[in-house]
Amino acid sequence: MSDIDTPAAVAERCPECGGRVAAHERFPTWCPSCEWNLLPPVPPPAGLPARARRRAERREERLRRETRARTEQVFGLVASGESALRHGAAVGAFLLAGLVHLVSLVVLLTGAALLAGWPVASWPLRALGVVALVVAVLLRPRLGRPKRTGRLSRQDAPALYGLVDRVAAELGAPKVDSIVVDGDFNASFGVLGLRRHRQLVIGLPLWTVLERQQRVALLGHELGHCVNGDSRRGLWTGAAVGALAEWRYLTRPGRDNEVHGNFVVAIASFVANLVLGLLHLGVRALTGLMYRLHMRSGQAAEYRADGMAARLTSAADARGMLVALFNEATLETVLVRQRALPARRGGGRAGRAAAAAEPGLWESLAEAARSVPATEVERRIRVSEREVSSVDVSHPPTYLRLRMLATAPPPADRHPLVLDAGQAAAIEAELAPHRARIAARLL
Ligand SMILES: [Zn+2]
Ligand SMILES: [Zn+2]
Repeated sequence: MSDIDTPAAVAERCPECGGRVAAHERFPTWCPSCEWNLLPPVPPPAGLPARARRRAERREERLRRETRARTEQVFGLVASGESALRHGAAVGAFLLAGLVHLVSLVVLLTGAALLAGWPVASWPLRALGVVALVVAVLLRPRLGRPKRTGRLSRQDAPALYGLVDRVAAELGAPKVDSIVVDGDFNASFGVLGLRRHRQLVIGLPLWTVLERQQRVALLGHELGHCVNGDSRRGLWTGAAVGALAEWRYLTRPGRDNEVHGNFVVAIASFVANLVLGLLHLGVRALTGLMYRLHMRSGQAAEYRADGMAARLTSAADARGMLVALFNEATLETVLVRQRALPARRGGGRAGRAAAAAEPGLWESLAEAARSVPATEVERRIRVSEREVSSVDVSHPPTYLRLRMLATAPPPADRHPLVLDAGQAAAIEAELAPHRARIAARLL
C-alpha cells in the first residue's frame, strides 16, 4: 500500500513542479520529483551578520563537497571489490600512532630523569620532573574503560547472551565478556582496558524501534567489528586515537574573559592561553591526519560489518536496521510528549490515572517508529545524500551504506539466523527491569 493512499496522508500538489506530494501532519511535506522542501528552511542563527553567515555557508558547502568526493571514492573502491585493508594509509596511521606513544614516553622518561637528579640534581629541576610526570599521566595511552552501569550478567540475561553468542559463533568472532544496556539511540562494541574486555552496548531506544530480524542485523554489525579488520580498533592505534582525543580536550584554551586586576596575571593568562592554543592546533592537525589515514580502511570495515549483518539476516533486514537509525528525532518527539503527560506535571490522582491509561514510553516509541510513512523514510535517505550525513562520524554516510547493501546483496542460498518470537519474549523479560530504570532516567 502506498502512503499516499493511507488516511493520514492528504494528497497535495507541489508548488514547484505540480507533481503529487503527500502531506503528513507529523512530517514535512516535500516533493519526491523535484525535491521541493526536502529540507524545510531553518531560521538563520540570530546575531550573525549576513556576510559572516554566507561565508559560513560557503565553508560548509565546500566541506560537504570534499567529504562527498572522499566517501564516494572509498565506496567505489569497496564496491569494485578492491581490498582497502592493506593500504599505505593504514601503515601511515600505525606510524602516526607510534609518534603519539613516543611523545608520551619521552615526557615520562624526562620526568623520571629530572626527578632522579639527572643531569644535575637541583630542587627546581626535581619540581619540573614532578610536573612532567603529572603531564605524562595525562598524556598516557587511553585504552578505554568498560562500563559498569546497566551491565547484565550471564545469569540475569541468558536469552540475550545466548542470541549474542550465536551471532558471534556465526561470524567466527569470540564471545563478548559483557553486555550493557543504556538509554542512547545507538549501539556499540568495544575492546577495552588492559585486559581487553569485549563489551557490547545496546541502547534500549534503538533496540525498541527494531523488528526482530533487524535486531539480529544490529548485533551482526556490532560483532562484525571483531572480525572486519578494523584498523582503528587495535591496541596500538586505538590507544593513540584515545590519547589524541584526550589531548584535544586538555589543550582546549579556556574561555577566560575575566578582567584581571593584576597586570602580571593578565599577561601570564594570555601567554598560557596562547601556548595552549598553539598546542591545540597541533593536536587538531594530528587528529585530522589520523582520521584521514583511517578513512579508507575504517569505512571499508563498516561496509563489511553491514555485509555481515545482511548475511546473518537478509539485505532487507540490514536495510531496515539502517533506516531505523534515522528515528533519533522520533525518540525526541516521543520524550517531549511523554514528559507533558499530566502525571508528570503533578496532576494529582486523576492525572496519574489518566497517565496510566496512556501507553508508556516504550510502546509509544515503538508505535511512532512503526508509523513513519515510506515517503518520510525516502526523504530522510535523500537528506543523508544531500548533506552527506551519517549516524556518527566513524561511519560512512547512511545513503552510501544503503547503496552498498543494494549493490552487493548476500547470496540467497543461506539460512538466516532467526530470532523467534519465544526467544524475543524471553529477552524482553530480561530487559524489563532495565526498561523501567532507563525510562525513569530519560523522562
Ligand atoms: Zn515538485
Ligand atoms: Zn560500525
